[in-house]
Amino acid sequence: MVPYGELSREQLLRMKEELEKQYEDVKGKGLKLDMSRGKPAAAQLDLAMGMMDVLNSSADLKCEAGIDCRNYGVLDGIPEAKRLLGAMSEVDPDSIIIYGNSSLNVMFDTVARSMTHGVCGSTPWCKLDNVKFLCPVPGYDRHFAVTEYFGIEMINVPMLSTGPDMDLVEKLVSEDASIKGIWCVPKYSNPQGITYSDETVRRFARLKPAAKDFRIYWDNAYSIHHLYEDDQDFLIEILGECAKAGNPDLVYKFTSTSKVSFPGSGIAAVAASPANLEDFKRHMQFQTIGHDKLNELRHVRFFKDLDGLTAHMKKHADIMRPKFEAVINVLEKELQGTGIGSWIAPKGGYFISFDAMEGCAKAIVAKAKEAGLVMTGAGATFPYGKDPKDSNIRIAPSYPTPEELAVAADIFVLSVKLVSIDKILESK
Ligand code: PMP
Repeated sequence: MVPYGELSREQLLRMKEELEKQYEDVKGKGLKLDMSRGKPAAAQLDLAMGMMDVLNSSADLKCEAGIDCRNYGVLDGIPEAKRLLGAMSEVDPDSIIIYGNSSLNVMFDTVARSMTHGVCGSTPWCKLDNVKFLCPVPGYDRHFAVTEYFGIEMINVPMLSTGPDMDLVEKLVSEDASIKGIWCVPKYSNPQGITYSDETVRRFARLKPAAKDFRIYWDNAYSIHHLYEDDQDFLIEILGECAKAGNPDLVYKFTSTSKVSFPGSGIAAVAASPANLEDFKRHMQFQTIGHDKLNELRHVRFFKDLDGLTAHMKKHADIMRPKFEAVINVLEKELQGTGIGSWIAPKGGYFISFDAMEGCAKAIVAKAKEAGLVMTGAGATFPYGKDPKDSNIRIAPSYPTPEELAVAADIFVLSVKLVSIDKILESK
């Protein structure tokens, strides 16, 4: 395909006319498609329906410690749930606290606690003049929303193909004691699907932050969410690396089964050093007498162990893979070589990240919306919703059916082409 930038004004105008006809055709169909959020499709949720049957009125509802899971108690999770989530997080069960249904909730709570009570005895962040977080971009909008909510200043750090730009991360955290944290999605990142390289993980573990209450928020939301059985990314385990580097307290590792069982009713966990876990628990004992142990039991009885989780995730992959491939195929067929967009074909996770020509993302999302396709708002992948280049768009292919996706991808590509042609024409 010839790069659009090399086409003459006349060629572009002719092309535009043809594309506009196609666009009006789809618009006339009055479609309602949604590629905005990374929600599992109903078919994926159906995979875990057996979980509804493992606990019934005649089931033994005691956990292996002999405690009746219907009653109060067990602040940090039943032993078998710690074992299951520990295996999923690649850490010892003793390094885990089990929470409620949402890891985002745990992350919010961790920032809130640091604001009001400080980190392991240090000054509460609310008493400091400046508190800053590093935000690898593009990233997860809800992470940025948490730090924005607490008035924490966010600093963009570019993502490279190996993870965040570590030269910049090392420089910033070693120079500025008001930088207290960094948001990381280290495996199949949201939205690019990038997995941090071994070197990146090791450099994280060896960080020498100026602030002793600096923590890495390692949100391993997509740890077992592969698309392919024979082509998977590998991520080094960060807790062990930090301990080896003499920095055991540097990281909080979050996880949940939201996209394994049910997003509304999964279980979340944090893994961290003994000192950090004590800090979490000191706070937690005032928040609750214990989380939903029946749900913990339900998960363990259904999945059993890591092999059970792995087998289950293969079924998810069978549903997700054709959807990702449908979108990637359309992008390759229609946009490869045009110079008007670039993307990464991920091997796992929930998203495809698309970079349009500078100054085009907002217009593309608006154009797609006009034709009945809702995408994640342009800018959402950056702190404060501000993409400095107005270029990045997050594509979430999980929720629509494959048939809907084929149409959605066509509308998206049409919108990209029309907006890009206008942009190129402006400069001709
Ligand atoms: N972290 C990341 C990176 C996510 O993409 C999501 C869901 N989109 C979450 C956390 C939310 O997790 P949970 O349901 O456990 O709150």
